[in-house]
Amino acid sequence: MQRVFEGDVATVEMLKDLLVGEGIDAGSSPASRFSEAAVWVNDESQLDRAVLFVTRFKRGEPLKHLERTPWKCPQCGEALEAQFEACWNCGTPREAAV
Ligand SMILES: [Zn+2]
Repeated sequence: MQRVFEGDVATVEMLKDLLVGEGIDAGSSPASRFSEAAVWVNDESQLDRAVLFVTRFKRGEPLKHLERTPWKCPQCGEALEAQFEACWNCGTPREAAV
């Protein structure tokens, strides 16, 4: 398990639900004497996606980029699977395709 976010309980619960809604195997832990409440990702293969999601959540960015749809690189035209966040051929980030 990897901790991807910590903060107040209300935010932690909301973020955990959003991650679960994205198909990510996430859980939360309550605040303790030693730490704040936290969101955890159970499946490490989903960690990159979860971290990206949390980063956008913190910035207040729209989360639509994370929809699991294949996309096409605007730079080189490569067809990419949904899980790639950047073109493996030329390195163009997925954001550029939107
Ligand atoms: Zn490309």
